[in-house]
Amino acid sequence: MQTTNPHAVLLASPGMGHFIPVVELGKRLATHHGFDVTIFVVAADASITKSPLFKPPQTPNPLNLVLLPPVDISALVDSTTSVVTQLMIMMREALSLLRAAISAMKSRPTALIVDLFGTEALATAEEFDMLKYVFITSTARFLAVTVHFPYIDEETEHKHRVMKRPLDIPGCRSIRYEDTLDRFLDPTNRIMNSSFTRVGMEISNADGILVNTWQDLEPLTLLALENEKFLGRVVKGPVYPVGPLVRPAGQSSKSEVMDWLDMQPMESVIYVSFGSGGTLSVKQTSELAWGLELSQHRFIWVVRPPVDNDVSANFFNVTNSHDGTPSYLPDGFYTRIRNRGMVVPMWAPQTEILAHQSIGGFFSHCGWNSALESMVNGVPMVAWPLYAEQQMNAAMLVEELELAVRPKIRPNTGVIRREEVAEMVRRVMELKGNEMRDKAKELQRSANQVLMQGGSSYNSLSRVSQECEVKLHHLSAMALG
Ligand code: UDP
Repeated sequence: MQTTNPHAVLLASPGMGHFIPVVELGKRLATHHGFDVTIFVVAADASITKSPLFKPPQTPNPLNLVLLPPVDISALVDSTTSVVTQLMIMMREALSLLRAAISAMKSRPTALIVDLFGTEALATAEEFDMLKYVFITSTARFLAVTVHFPYIDEETEHKHRVMKRPLDIPGCRSIRYEDTLDRFLDPTNRIMNSSFTRVGMEISNADGILVNTWQDLEPLTLLALENEKFLGRVVKGPVYPVGPLVRPAGQSSKSEVMDWLDMQPMESVIYVSFGSGGTLSVKQTSELAWGLELSQHRFIWVVRPPVDNDVSANFFNVTNSHDGTPSYLPDGFYTRIRNRGMVVPMWAPQTEILAHQSIGGFFSHCGWNSALESMVNGVPMVAWPLYAEQQMNAAMLVEELELAVRPKIRPNTGVIRREEVAEMVRRVMELKGNEMRDKAKELQRSANQVLMQGGSSYNSLSRVSQECEVKLHHLSAMALG
């Protein structure tokens, strides 16, 4: 059976940082561009279905949100396997489940859209004669490095990895060693490097690449990705900037933290959070606590128990439960900050918080969703990058977009002292804050415009929709013989 709408199948890899933007993309395809949408979710276990985020959104054209049966990878990993490698293994193990699910669909899907970790599934799209797209839930800059990665020769890599020289990406700003991706820091991780090469090639061969950015935010990099003289040479299909796709505020129920925010003065609170999995060391957690206290500013801090030697240790353990023993915080901290600080264990309604008028700054690990959520709400930042491409994001937020400050050293290479923490909070909330706030407000306006009908990101998705319409007609014509 074939419907008259194009049917997009989206595949979300594990982790809220992928799931949230994939759902937002699905919503826009359904509500603004007339798609039927099915989202297959790969998760470490079934607990995600209990999250309010999993509830299919009420749109005129509702999404079909389906959790693929959880895959057991315990025999394939050990305690030394990195989070990224675990993700890749899970996605590979889920391929047969995706294939079976697509094969069983009554309405033949027109397109498959996968995120960074799902590119191996693009072969399944070919098998079912679907268009194949990749949705990069990060920056165009990250996309540029990824598609260029397979073409980096040994000498260039040596200069970057070992001699710590900047990495040149055709047509783009070069990447300083200090801001580089994790995978350039660990030359011994062969599996990760060969996987990244494969992913770079698979992305380049897609029919189109959707990126959670927008034209005015990264014009130079987007141009380089299109231009045949630069990365356009290796990228087969068009690159579509479709962002900023972020979860809108107003979907969470009332909570203590929102009640507390209601009582605070306008733009007086800094929100501190390190994403869905970021953790700090014991020492750093303590210094951060002291620094927040020292700054004398109001704050909300989403706290996770510290873990030494693994900055993404909580990645698979996101829960809303309180561990009950915040003994890793300085003695008497709760009492001393009682009137101006709020500690939220594990998870907070971030988009609601950032949209609140009492928020004046965001102390963030610079995950791309968090960065976008800050921009769409016009909130300046303290950039505290921890892993993956977050250093690159931080460099862009500080140097190009000028809406953030960052510490002098990489937060995961040494402990940042309380005085520097307090100083950065003050710079965002007082000294430099107004200038940065102006920049953030400018970006907020631009972000709103591009998503409106006729805006550049809206038009990008319209073009994807047109391609899918053409494919749909082609498939219908073939079915009729
Ligand atoms: N998030 C949230 N509450 C939290 C922590 C994170 O709602 O306490 C959401 C946040 O709004 C964002 C996502 O989880 O949409 C995290 O994605 P990001 O890319 O910022 O970081 P990642 O978790 O992938 O490192």
